[in-house]
Amino acid sequence: MIEVCGLHKQFKTPVVKEGRFAGLRTLFTREYRMKEAVKDISFTISQGDFVGYIGPNGAGKSTTIKMLTGILHPSSGEVKIGGINPHHNRRHVAKRLGVVFGQRSQLWWDLPVKDSYDILAHMYKVASSEKEKRLDELGELLDLKEFWLTPVRKLSLGQRMRADIAASMLHDPDVLFLDEPTIGLDVTAKRSIRGFLKKLNSEYGKTILLTTHDMDDIEQLCQRVMVINHGKLSYEGTIGNLRDKIGLPTRIHVTFHGTYQMPIPKDLSLPVELGLDAEHTFQIVEASSHEIHIEANRQQVKAMDILRMVSGWGEVADIHMEEPDFEDIIHRIY
Ligand code: ADP
Ligand code: MG
Repeated sequence: MIEVCGLHKQFKTPVVKEGRFAGLRTLFTREYRMKEAVKDISFTISQGDFVGYIGPNGAGKSTTIKMLTGILHPSSGEVKIGGINPHHNRRHVAKRLGVVFGQRSQLWWDLPVKDSYDILAHMYKVASSEKEKRLDELGELLDLKEFWLTPVRKLSLGQRMRADIAASMLHDPDVLFLDEPTIGLDVTAKRSIRGFLKKLNSEYGKTILLTTHDMDDIEQLCQRVMVINHGKLSYEGTIGNLRDKIGLPTRIHVTFHGTYQMPIPKDLSLPVELGLDAEHTFQIVEASSHEIHIEANRQQVKAMDILRMVSGWGEVADIHMEEPDFEDIIHRIY
């Protein structure tokens, strides 16, 4: 559905001089600095995928999305949406795309929400009956009815974002690009937007590329993530594989009925050998009379092996596994 091959974007910005008459000198000297915002990015996204696009500020996420939608021309490389290059045939591609920039509304600030939809429907040549039908549906799903007649500037951020997402869906595109749609929202507003996006993907089969800073967005919504850093893709794959690759330990909490017998000294600094080989170890990081807390790297040790060993130490009452925090994983790769 989306094919990106060797995408580059360089920005040429005038160097701003310092000191007196700096502005004037900048005008005349025309010195430029080249900024490579996106460097040789390639990926494909299949129909029905929900992909997260993450990376620190300034990594090149928005620049990539602008090139995907045809707003910006790549310096080199190629984009195809459903087999069509958005730079050669922007109108054609625009019909299939919905785009939301969380930081910038596409609605008319002073007009009632409803009026913006009328304008957009006209721009996208959506027939009036079709528009009404879709607005009925979107209004229901996104709870728009309560502020239908309110000017956009009077909406809360959460309402505005819902209104913007509805606007991007008005022409019923099959691909959605969402650039930070949950930025600045409170927990409830985030939850309602996530619920809607999930539905769009799983029930309506929309292909979605989502940029976000919120790792909960990614964990709850995306089957796959792409990580961009300094304009380059540094990871592409599932969240599970990302966890494994970074190798942060999984925590396992075991509670015993009564006491337990560890067949080794309770020296917490020593890795416990599973009797497999030296590499297959795990660490007991905390122990009390009825409980132990274990850390293990799941790439090296199978959880089952640990459980088998632990159950030999006493009667296990409860086992609870805690995967490494996604936030921590992301900090490791940035
Ligand atoms: P992100 O969305 O990941 O935060 P952006 O794609 O917005 O990052 O920006 C990537 C880099 O390109 C940044 O260093 C930014 O300053 C630069 N950049 C973005 N847009 C422009 C522009 N229009 N002119 C010059 N530099 C730009
Ligand atoms: Mg951005």
